[in-house]
Amino acid sequence: MSKNIKWAIVFLAVVLICVGAIFFGQLNSKHKGAEIYIGSQLYQTIESLENEDIRTVTVETPDGTNTICYGEGKIWVEQADCKNQVCVNHAKASLVDEVIICAPHKLLIKVTGEDSSQADVVL
Ligand SMILES: [Zn+2]
Repeated sequence: MSKNIKWAIVFLAVVLICVGAIFFGQLNSKHKGAEIYIGSQLYQTIESLENEDIRTVTVETPDGTNTICYGEGKIWVEQADCKNQVCVNHAKASLVDEVIICAPHKLLIKVTGEDSSQADVVL
């Protein structure tokens, strides 16, 4: 009888661990961050875009300044002193591997996530 209870507990524990792992895995796959490159150099890594308060990063490139905002799973260029303003007019990036480029400043912002972490060796 007590043996049965022990096995029941072990079985339950295994099930709980499996459910927990699946749940945790799903949370993880939603995790998004971003990388900011100047030229081909990694300038800054943003661990998470999931913050609910909007945060600002000011990036000074040799060619000019970009003010980047991120939060709520998105990242975008709020302000830039580049000539064409393509980066500022770009829609907010929220998909893994989505890229915002400021060509005049040789700036590149890339959304990163669990799915792409192994595939983004080139850059
Ligand atoms: Zn720009």
